[in-house]
Amino acid sequence: MPATIVAGNWKMNTTLEEARELAEGVRSLADNTGGVETILCPPAISLSAVKEAVSGSTVKVGAQNMHWEDSGAFTGEVSPAMLVGLCEYVILGHSERRQLFGETDAQINQKVKAAFRHGLKPILCVGETLEERESGQAREIMARQVMSGLDGTVGLDINGLVVAYEPVWAIGTGQAATPDIAAEIMGGSILEALHSLFGPDADDIPLLYGGSVNVGNIADFASQSCIHGALVGGASLQAESFMEIARLAG
Ligand code: PEP
Repeated sequence: MPATIVAGNWKMNTTLEEARELAEGVRSLADNTGGVETILCPPAISLSAVKEAVSGSTVKVGAQNMHWEDSGAFTGEVSPAMLVGLCEYVILGHSERRQLFGETDAQINQKVKAAFRHGLKPILCVGETLEERESGQAREIMARQVMSGLDGTVGLDINGLVVAYEPVWAIGTGQAATPDIAAEIMGGSILEALHSLFGPDADDIPLLYGGSVNVGNIADFASQSCIHGALVGGASLQAESFMEIARLAG
C-alpha cells in the first residue's frame, strides 16, 4: 500500500521571510496529520530556510523544478547536485513548466533520471489540457506522459517515485476534477502505464491528485482507492488549510 502524501506547491509565492513563517506554521501543526507525509515545495531560494524551519519534524521539503545537468553554463538554473542535502523531493513536469516554459517530455525524462541518479525523489506531474480532454485524448495522453517521463527507468531504484495527476483545466481554476474523473485516469491509464513499466512494484507508487484541492473536497478524492493524497497549490499557502487537507487525506 503506498504512503499517503500531501505536498504543497508554493509556486512563485513567498519572500524568504514569508516562506520561513509559513514553514514554521506548518511545523507547529505537524502532530495533527496522523501518518500522512507532508511535503513543502517552496521557491528554490527559500529551500534552505524552509529546511531549517521544519528540521526535527516529520515535514519534508521538495523543490519545484531542476535542470538535469550537474553543473555548467545554464544561467538561472538549479542542478540536482545543488538540491542534494537541501530537499528530499523534486516536482518535475508541472504543467506550468510544460506550458509556460516549453518543457518537453524528453527534457522531463532527463530530469527524472537525474533525480534518481542523485537520490532525489521525483514527483512526476502529468495532466491533459481541456482541449485534449474534450477531444477524447485524455487517457492516451496520460499514458504517453507517464511512459515518456519514465522512459529508461526500468531497472533503476525507483523507490520514492511519486506520480501526480493534475489536469491542466483544474489547476488554479477552482474547478477541481470530480473524484470519478480523477480515479478513471489514475486507476486506469496512469496505473496501467506504471504496471507496464514496473510490474507489481507499480502498486507501491503513491498517486496524487492535483487541481483546486481544498479542505472541502480532499476527503472525496482520498476516499478513492487509487488516490493516495494530493498535490496542493493555492491552499498550501496557508498553514492551517494545508495541514487540514493533510489530516483529511489520512
Ligand atoms: C498545482 O499547482 O500543482 C496545483 C494543483 O494548484 P491548485 O491547487 O492551486 O490548483
